[in-house]
Amino acid sequence: MSEDTLFSRIVAGEIPADIVFQDDRVTAFRDINPQAPTHILIIPNKIIATVNDVTKADEATLGHMFVVARDLAEQEGIASDGYRLLVNCGHHANQEVLHLHMHLVGGKPLGRMLSTKVRESS
Ligand code: 5GP
Repeated sequence: MSEDTLFSRIVAGEIPADIVFQDDRVTAFRDINPQAPTHILIIPNKIIATVNDVTKADEATLGHMFVVARDLAEQEGIASDGYRLLVNCGHHANQEVLHLHMHLVGGKPLGRMLSTKVRESS
């Protein structure tokens, strides 16, 4: 079995988080450092480190993440104005937590990109 991640510990209830949705396949919780009025992370309960580690067996779970994102956007009241779904993969994308996660960001105009900040080193 994969080693625990920060996010798998949130799934297990070992680390507190503001969980807004959970079922047998995915968990969604508010980002600790929100970049917009709504900033929710939607993750597979199963540890998948990055998009590079996705397999065909994960298709149903990954599709479910989009359905959950759609429902949460509706619940948050941001569906009609629009929102951004974003998945970082690896070093060049500054993926911080090696447990695949979809950011659901909205509640204000987001511009063309969420951030143009570029980390110079490491
Ligand atoms: P990444 O850069 O990997 O795509 O995004 C990781 C996200 O996880 C960041 O937006 C960061 O604020 C969030 N995050 C990091 N640690 C925690 C935590 O302990 N709890 C919650 N709720 N979010 C976290």
